[in-house]
Amino acid sequence: MAYSAKARGLFAEDIQAIRDKGIYKEKRFICSPQGAEIEVEFPEGAPKAKVLNFCANNYLGLSSHPDVVKAAHEGLDKRGYGMSSVRFICGTQDIHRELQNRVSEFLGMEDTLLFPSCMDANSGVFESILGPEDVILADRLIHASLIDGIKLCSAQYDTFKHMNMKHLKKKLELHRDKRHVLVVTDGVFSMDGDLAPLDEMCALCDEYGAMILVDESHASGFIGRTGRGTHEHFNVIDKVDLITTTFGKGLGGASGGCVSGRKELIELCRQNARPYLFSNSMAPPIVNASIKVIDLVTSNTDLRDKLEWNTAYFRKGIEEAGLCVRPGKTPIVPVMLYNAKLANDMSRDMYAEGIYVIGFFFPVVPSGAARIRVQLSAAHTKEHIDKAVAAFKKIGEKYGILGLDKKGIIEKYGM
Ligand SMILES: *Cc1c(COP(=O)(O)O)cnc(C)c1O
Repeated sequence: MAYSAKARGLFAEDIQAIRDKGIYKEKRFICSPQGAEIEVEFPEGAPKAKVLNFCANNYLGLSSHPDVVKAAHEGLDKRGYGMSSVRFICGTQDIHRELQNRVSEFLGMEDTLLFPSCMDANSGVFESILGPEDVILADRLIHASLIDGIKLCSAQYDTFKHMNMKHLKKKLELHRDKRHVLVVTDGVFSMDGDLAPLDEMCALCDEYGAMILVDESHASGFIGRTGRGTHEHFNVIDKVDLITTTFGKGLGGASGGCVSGRKELIELCRQNARPYLFSNSMAPPIVNASIKVIDLVTSNTDLRDKLEWNTAYFRKGIEEAGLCVRPGKTPIVPVMLYNAKLANDMSRDMYAEGIYVIGFFFPVVPSGAARIRVQLSAAHTKEHIDKAVAAFKKIGEKYGILGLDKKGIIEKYGM
């Protein structure tokens, strides 16, 4: 028996250390479809409670949309349950090709390759196209999956300060001698909800002959006038070389991801990307439903317009209530609390008020930057948002933070 009592004891100590730091992740169970109103069992074994969900990536409310569910059923009926294969052996159906073509058109790119997830897309893309004579220049706050993907590739790696274009310019200057330079950023940063300044970034890339990859997971489907993403928002659709994105957020919420961009780069991913070669294909029901999602978001802009309205309405309400929020325009609204315990305590009290939100603190965000991250959805009604704002006001009052700015909250609770 290799799992000795000693080994068990050491692992149990690791878990206790996580609890002692107050950062243990509790199990939470949802006993309903995903949506604006959900039924939650929390803590484990407690009676189910109906709450309003303000922490899903269900930006367009498509997770349980009847047309999307129907398309998943149809995909199941016409192309079966699973592929039992990776893409390149016998895991590519005509509907995979159709989804790839639809995504290329939607994002304004030359070609697209599907992956089991965006995490897999990010794992495969860098190693497929870059080598030791190349360099990656990444924003310091890029998503963890991009960092993991960069670690898997042999290119040199350097960073620039978050959204700091002066610093990016300096690094581009420094790396002029490299064969390829690839600038990497999130389009919308998931913790702060801020938009990468793609207009300035693309201009710098032009000036220095660098390529740019943008992870659009928190943008595809709703940022930009017709929801194509951050590159549409900044009017640089033809300047972006590579986009990675997910079907697990705004674009349906199930799973799957892709790399989209210049056709030679996509072809190299098809030849080299390890998740394409070694991990199973997206399942047919999800592929078929994702095609329906692209239909829905391209037929009109109703859903992204509703989300935009909901976002503005919530931001206005929460600011008037006296909470401290990071300004911005995206449906990610960080209610800043700075102190980890305060974020944890307030989110628990919000749950008791019927609002499901989660406190974020180190290591998910920098220490001293704890917050409750609120995410709006097109599925929220005005009444849902009113209820959330009222609950924040009540709980904010309980903790005496209404009207306080960063300095005031830190003086009262510490960082
Ligand atoms: C969620 C997310 C991913 C991962 O997407 P999956 O399809 O769930 O693997 C990648 N990048 C960013 C920026 C994300 O927010």
